[in-house]
Amino acid sequence: MNPRAVTERSLRVLITVKTYPIPSSKYDELVCTAGVSERGDFIRLYPINFRDLPFDRQFRKYQWIEVDAVKHTGRDQRKESYRPTRDSIQTLGEPIGTDRGTWRSRSMMVLKNKSKSMESLWDAQESDNTSLGILKPREIVDLVYSPSESEWRPSQTQALRQARIWEDRSVSLNPPRKVPFDFHYIFNCDDERCNGHKMSLHDWELGALYWRLVDQGFEKEEAAEGVREKFYDELCGQDKDTHFYVGTVLNYSNWIVLGLFYPKLSNSAPNDRQLSIWD
Ligand SMILES: [Zn+2]
Repeated sequence: MNPRAVTERSLRVLITVKTYPIPSSKYDELVCTAGVSERGDFIRLYPINFRDLPFDRQFRKYQWIEVDAVKHTGRDQRKESYRPTRDSIQTLGEPIGTDRGTWRSRSMMVLKNKSKSMESLWDAQESDNTSLGILKPREIVDLVYSPSESEWRPSQTQALRQARIWEDRSVSLNPPRKVPFDFHYIFNCDDERCNGHKMSLHDWELGALYWRLVDQGFEKEEAAEGVREKFYDELCGQDKDTHFYVGTVLNYSNWIVLGLFYPKLSNSAPNDRQLSIWD
């Protein structure tokens, strides 16, 4: 037996995050798919060839899956990175619902290992290669956007075609279109060391919404504004208890926003964002 063989493990993962293709990422990690274990530990799974998954194995956010996987080694030393064994993904039941917007059942799972701040995640990254987390910003100041490249580079297109990351076989064999804007959240944390953050947002739903608006006839700037309305005005609104899923991209050690967790604030809970206006 090869003593260096890596052990395959059966993992149960509640999927919480799927990103739009990240231009700066390496070939096999173009899309970040991640979730939490039953203990609340974060797990990143790649590569996943979504298009090759039979219909009954295609999963959605907040759905449990079972997957045989091995820990990534070599150039990916991040503690949460696993490589699924081909064809081993099984979905377990229906996605967990929103509990009338309170996201109570989801919260019990995904907030088990909530981080206090980006600063504490950097500490964890330093000590044990932590590369995924969820945190509640103290204040989300804005979501800003600026023009970026309008096309994938040829090498990226090539990688996207081979990676088979997009699910919808009926629409097109072409990869998801490049969004010609970069979106960045500006926020700060509940941490005395915090100097504020500007972090890019890569949620799959951002790209999907942008192109849906363009396809409906909106100009590019209007579509970008529509994305801002959704991802800032609505999902970071004062009636929401918004948290960020954050993580690193393999080539770089800097952190990005992978997705949002946005339950409704219950009436009895103090509204941090409203209070923060008066700080
Ligand atoms: Zn901070």
